[in-house]
Amino acid sequence: MLEIFFPDIYVKSIYEMPLDKLKNKGIKALFFDIDNTIVPFDVSEPDEKVINFFKKLKEMNFKVCLVSNNNKHRVNMFNKKLNILAISRAGKPGIKKLLEAMRKLGENKESSAFIGDQAFTDMYCGNRAGMLTILTKPVCNRDQLVTKVKRGLERLVLNVYFKKYGIER
Ligand SMILES: [Mg+2]
Repeated sequence: MLEIFFPDIYVKSIYEMPLDKLKNKGIKALFFDIDNTIVPFDVSEPDEKVINFFKKLKEMNFKVCLVSNNNKHRVNMFNKKLNILAISRAGKPGIKKLLEAMRKLGENKESSAFIGDQAFTDMYCGNRAGMLTILTKPVCNRDQLVTKVKRGLERLVLNVYFKKYGIER
């Protein structure tokens, strides 16, 4: 029952994503949460490392999309230098906007992966959409208050996951 919150893959940061393996699995589109997945929630713009990473994804022919529950201002500001498809107020773990974006990119659930730092929003959302899910360790310990409240319970659920698969955090 808890499996719906579990990722298929766990990485310590987006830079550790097994890109070649994803390619071989037939993954063509990558959907990213922003806050605490790519940058801390209170960092408004991508740094050089982030920009280069997205450049690399493009060179590898991955289609990419930002899927955030945060507001338009935050998402647009963050996306200014990346200039990729971006969804704000995505309503995760609802999957309506995610599936819309997936279709817009011309992909399906088998060719899509969702990457995020939260089990209850991101992993739940990606799993419900039928995509491959990748959990990242949050990039920083600072959280928005609403997220902070969720983290406690989330930690309990993820403890089950890490224990089950013998994964070191
Ligand atoms: Mg997040």
